[in-house]
Parts: sequence; C-alpha cells; structure tokens
Amino acid sequence: MKSYKRILLKLSGEQLSGEFDGGIDPKLASWIAGEAKTLTDAGFELVIMVGGGNFVRGAQIAGHGILRVTADHMGMLGTLMNALALTDIFENHDVKTRCLSNIFAEQVAEPFVHRLAFKHLENGRVVIVAGGIGRPYLTTDTAAVSLSLELDCDVVLKATKVDGVYDVDPAINSKAKKIAKLSYQQAVEDGAIKVMDKAAMGLAMEHEMPIVIFDAMKSGNILKAAKGENIGTTIA
Ligand code: UDP
Repeated sequence: MKSYKRILLKLSGEQLSGEFDGGIDPKLASWIAGEAKTLTDAGFELVIMVGGGNFVRGAQIAGHGILRVTADHMGMLGTLMNALALTDIFENHDVKTRCLSNIFAEQVAEPFVHRLAFKHLENGRVVIVAGGIGRPYLTTDTAAVSLSLELDCDVVLKATKVDGVYDVDPAINSKAKKIAKLSYQQAVEDGAIKVMDKAAMGLAMEHEMPIVIFDAMKSGNILKAAKGENIGTTIA
C-alpha cells in the first residue's frame, strides 16, 4: 500500500450538480469540502482540477454558429464558476484555499503561475485550478494530468460516478467484475474504457503518473484513495 503526499483530485462538473440538472449544488459542494478537510488535516497536499460539464462542454454546443473555440472558452468559464464556488465553500470549512485561473480573470482569481501554486501548497493551502489548461480542444482530464506533472503530484485521483473500471458495463451485466489494476497500455488501447480521455491517459503513460479511478461521493473514499488503500481501479 503506497500512501501519496501531494494529491491531484479531478472533480467533474457533473459531480458538483448533485441532484440538480446542472449548475452547482452548494450542499454537495459543502460535503466535498468536508471530505477535503480530512485530507488536509491528515497532512496531504491537495490540488484540485475542476471540470465544467455542469455548465458547458465545448464539443456539445459547438455548431449552429458557435465556433468550437468559443464553445471551449465558454466551457473554461464554466470551470471558473465551479472553482470560485468551491474556493469559498472550502474556506468556509476552514480549509485554506486559493483559486488560480488558467484563463485571464484577474478580477476574480489569481492567475495560474507555477511558482505561486507551489508557494500556496507549501503554505498548506489547497490549490483549485480553473480554466483547465487555458486552451481550446482539450478537456479538464488532460489538464488534470498535465497539472499533476507540473506541480509534482504523486497521483491523479479521478472521481467518477462508478467505483472503478469494470470488465463489462455493470449497468448492463450484473456479473461485471471490477478491475483493481490496469496497465496504461490496456487503458489506452481498450476502446471500451471511457473513464478518462485517451489524451489524458497517453500523457500519464508517458510520464508514469498513476491514476486512480474511484467513487469520491462515498464518505471517506478520497482519504482512502490518498492513502493508497485498495479502492477503485489503479492505472499504473
Ligand atoms: N476546456 C477547454 N480546455 C481545457 C479544459 C476545458 O477548452 O483545458 C473546455 C472544454 O470545452 C470542456 C469544458 O471546458 O468540455 C469543460 O471541461 P470538461 O468537459 O473537462 O468538464 P467535466 O466533464 O470534467 O465536467
């Protein structure tokens, strides 16, 4: 069992909407803040890459006159809204937190600067990054892996609705078995594995960044994953 020290947690926008059809469910975000606090209290350093799918996914709204680049800009703005909400909610839970943005938005968030992010982490603050990587045609999954490398994280914890990768779709087949460990090669080559996009997986493979796919919405799971306990599926 390998405990990690600096954790990159990837939260999707969908997870923040909870019971709602879209937007942010502040109650659920509050619950996530409570879970994050257990990590920082235990001495882990936490970086969060938050998605924006609860507002806009560029690929879905591009067309009918909206350029893909514009649609992706809108998607990135969605991630900024999530990051701002989470930052306030975390601080409200006594978790020292800073929002750093990869899109220019100085009025509302500090710009993402490599050294500044490190400084915040060294000062015991959670760093929430908005705007993905700041460029279109990408997702926050790829941005999460890239950021984990940039900030010297030990692992990417990718929170999903399912509790790991299965050999067949568990929604269709009751005999589906969860796979505890997968190689990067398997994760990249198996077209049925859709828990993370292939660009993200390829980048993780190239730099041997471990990824844990797990259900973060169960109490205690984020801490368990950070401690390297056997939950979800580890891709390494
Ligand atoms: N996006 C982008 N560049 C990035 C990250 C995100 O253009 O580096 C845009 C893209 O349109 C994406 C949207 O922001 O669909 C929201 O991110 P994502 O779909 O990854 O959110 P999630 O599905 O995790 O909620």
